[in-house]
Amino acid sequence: MEQKEYTIYEKVLGIVDHDLYVPQLNFVFGEAGRKMAVISLTRLRQEFYGLSEDRGLFHKRTLTEAVHELGHTYGLGHCRNPRCVMFFSNSLMDTDRKGPEFCLGCGGRLSRRL
Ligand SMILES: [Zn+2]
Ligand SMILES: [Zn+2]
Repeated sequence: MEQKEYTIYEKVLGIVDHDLYVPQLNFVFGEAGRKMAVISLTRLRQEFYGLSEDRGLFHKRTLTEAVHELGHTYGLGHCRNPRCVMFFSNSLMDTDRKGPEFCLGCGGRLSRRL
């Protein structure tokens, strides 16, 4: 992802409704650089898997993926705690298990960078 300097914004989060792919991975829920991140809504919907709509779950997943990618823009890496938002999501099961909260370690690292 090309990085441009935006002086009036601290971070820019792009939200797209297209399936995102990066080389060597099947798909990604999102990608992040230092200033910018992007998340894809496509695979966060129950309907994508042939299930009936669940707006509450969709909103929680969107928040979780947004916080995860924004965490990367603040220099946080992936966390080994499966309940931490910075845990790597291989599948929606991972996203649903963790939710949008940081573990104590990642939350501490983040607050030192804000
Ligand atoms: Zn990540
Ligand atoms: Zn963590």
